[in-house]
Parts: sequence; C-alpha cells; structure tokens
Amino acid sequence: MRDLFGVIVMQKGSLYLIATPIGNLLDIGFRAVEVLKTVDVIAAEDTRHSKTLLQHYQIDTKMISMHAHNEELRVGQLLAWLQDGQSVAVISDAGTPLISDPGFPLVRAAREAGVQVVPVPGACAAIVALCASGLPADKFVFEGFLSAKSGARQKRLTELQDEARTVVFYESPHRIMAMLADMMTVLGGGRKVVIGRELTKQYETIHEDTIEGMLAWMTADPNQQRGEFVVMLAGARVDDNAKQTQSLRMLKVLLAELPLKQAVRLCAELSGAKKNELYEIALQWQS
Ligand code: SAM
Repeated sequence: MRDLFGVIVMQKGSLYLIATPIGNLLDIGFRAVEVLKTVDVIAAEDTRHSKTLLQHYQIDTKMISMHAHNEELRVGQLLAWLQDGQSVAVISDAGTPLISDPGFPLVRAAREAGVQVVPVPGACAAIVALCASGLPADKFVFEGFLSAKSGARQKRLTELQDEARTVVFYESPHRIMAMLADMMTVLGGGRKVVIGRELTKQYETIHEDTIEGMLAWMTADPNQQRGEFVVMLAGARVDDNAKQTQSLRMLKVLLAELPLKQAVRLCAELSGAKKNELYEIALQWQS
C-alpha cells in the first residue's frame, strides 16, 4: 500500500512503532492511522486503554497486550509472526513507544533478526514540553522518571547538579512534591524549573519559577499537583553551582555545632547565600 507520494505506507513483515496522542485524540498523524488500520496485529501496552483511540478512528485491527510484565515473553511470539511475514504495530498508552514505555526488547530483537523497524512519529511529552518551556532546547538530557525512593533520587540529582544542558524528567502526581523537595535539598531553591502539566489537555499548564517558588506555588494550589508532569530543570551555570555546593557544605558543618537559626544566619553571612533558602534546606535536613 502506497501513500499520495508513492511511499509505501505499510509493508508486510515490518515492525511499526507508532506514536499516539498524549491527551488530545486529534494529535495523531494520517500515516499512523493508516498503518494501524492495515497491520495484522497491534501490540498495545493496555488494550482497554487503547480501545478509545482505535474506536475514534474506526480501527478494528486485532490487539494483543505488551506491557512491562509480559514484554520479554511477547518478544518470541511477535518476532515469529514478523519473520512469518506478518506486520506488527507497537503502541503505548500515550506518546512514543519505548520512551519510558514498553518496546525496547522487541525492537532490539527485531533489529538483531534483520526485521525492518519503521518509526511513525508523533507526540512525545518530553519534546512537547521542552519546545514550549522557554529553556534551551538545542541540547538537553532526558532522564525519564527518577527513583521512587528519596535517597536514590537525591543521589541522581547530585550527579546531575553540574549538568549544563536542560534536564527533562517525567513525574507522577504522587511524587511531584517530593521530587521538588529533593531538588531543593540537593540543588538549593534558586535554580529555574519549568513544569509542563496535562499537556494537550483541558488543564494544560506551563509554569516557570525557581525550585523554591514552584514548591510554594504548588503547595498554595493543590490543583497544580494533579495530572501528568514533565519537569524541566535549567542547566547549571558551573560557577553558581560551585558556590551553592560550598554554602551547603558550610551549612552542614555549622548545623553540627550550632542551633539551626544561628547556623543559618552565620552561613548566610559567610557565604552570601539567601537566608530563607538555607533555612528551608536546614529544616528539611532536620525533618
Ligand atoms: N511514552 C510517553 C511519551 O512519549 O511521552 C511517556 C510515557 S510515561 C509512562 C508517562 C509520563 O509521561 C507521565 O507520567 C508524565 O510524566 C509524562 N506525560 C505523558 N503525557 C503527559 C501530558 N499530557 N502532560 C504532561 N506529561 C505527560
């Protein structure tokens, strides 16, 4: 089957990676719909979830599930079908497959087996958010989800503290506040963050602030803690970071010897760091 320009839309024995909308059902390309209609089978992260999309576009192709818990098992079966000349499309619940979503083991196996892998591009929350963030998008780092555990999260943030490129994270509503609190502890309150919430949906919000300001803003309005989030951290200016690390180190030493208020006052005086930011951090360390 060929499209208007004579390009083959769907070829037997190929594996198609199809990006689907991240909220607004209209955000899907014509080619994606055509391929979904004509492949032999669609491997979907959650068949019930994807039913809405398929029904909207009158796609009645057979679906099977491929998710985090059966992915490795599915690879053999899907590869056998592909090698038998059948065409398979992979979709996830939202956005681009493989990007913090299932698909990687199948793509690796397909390429190793010489099966043609065809990407059909579309939405990806990280890219959608980054483009609208106002942060540098020429170079960026995609970190996906940080760990669910605060210790591991802080460790990763410490490793990233000198990263000069924009850092893009995914986060869930259950952990967004804890993540920002860990950012404040590790990076201080002054670094700029931009949050893309509920992108392409009714309550789409793109908000920019310092880490400290973002925490205060979201605490004051709990509605801002709902939905899906892309969190983008402005790249470090290495000079600022070195100063920040030094003042946090100083604060730690002073806190070991002095009451909190006195330690904070002295640290602010000696390092030039903001007293209220040091105070917040000291309180978090002690809680
Ligand atoms: N593969 C998807 C993609 O290409 O964006 C990402 C899947 S990952 C399991 C889901 C996470 O992506 C959410 O927890 C959230 O961090 C982010 N996300 C997805 N849709 C979003 C949206 N409409 N607005 C903001 N973030 C979104």
